[in-house]
Amino acid sequence: MEDVIHAQAMAYLTGTLGDNAAGIRITGIDTGGPGPRVRWEIPRLSRPRVSDRGEIYRHGVTDLISRMIALRWAGGQEHREPPPESYLDLHRDYPTVFTDTLETPAGWHWMLEAAAEAILEQGVPEGSRTCQVKQKLGTLRWYVRGSTPESMLLVINSAEWLSGAVCEHCGAPGSVRPGGWIRTLCDDHADQKRRR
Ligand SMILES: [Zn+2]
Repeated sequence: MEDVIHAQAMAYLTGTLGDNAAGIRITGIDTGGPGPRVRWEIPRLSRPRVSDRGEIYRHGVTDLISRMIALRWAGGQEHREPPPESYLDLHRDYPTVFTDTLETPAGWHWMLEAAAEAILEQGVPEGSRTCQVKQKLGTLRWYVRGSTPESMLLVINSAEWLSGAVCEHCGAPGSVRPGGWIRTLCDDHADQKRRR
C-alpha cells in the first residue's frame, strides 16, 4: 500500500506543479491516524519565481495532497470510491465552507473535503460565501465573496491547481484531456471515454 501511495502522491505533485515540484520529496508515510499521511521535505527554491509565487504553492499543494490521500485511503488497505452525490454531501457536511450548492464531479470529493478541512482549521471569516464551485475546461473554479484571507485563498487556489491532476470520476492521479468536452481523467477513464 505504501508504495502505491508514494507513487500516487508524486503523480499528483508533478501533475500539479511541473517544474516547480523540483527537489520536493517524501520522507515518510504516517499510518497512525485515520488515514495515511504523507510527510514531505520541501527545500527552498534556489531561484524562486516571483511571478507565480511558486514557493507558497509548494507548501499549499503538498499539504492538500497529503490531506486528500489520508481521506481517500482512510480506514483500509484500499482507497475508497467517492460518494456518487459528492456535491450534495460536501454542501451538507461543510455548510460554512460551501455555503452554496456545488456543481463538482464525484472524483474531486476527497480533494474538496481536504480543502474544506484545511479552511475550517483556520476558521471561516464571518460573511465569507462561496458563489460557485464547479468544473470548467477540465479544472476546478472556486469563487468566493466577502472577506477572504490570504491563507484561505492559498487553499482554494491550491485546490484549483491540484484539480488538473485528479481524475474527476474516481480521484486517482489524472491529467487534463483535450477534446470537445475537456475533462481531467486518469488513464483508465480516459480509455473508456475514447471507446465510447
Ligand atoms: Zn479515474
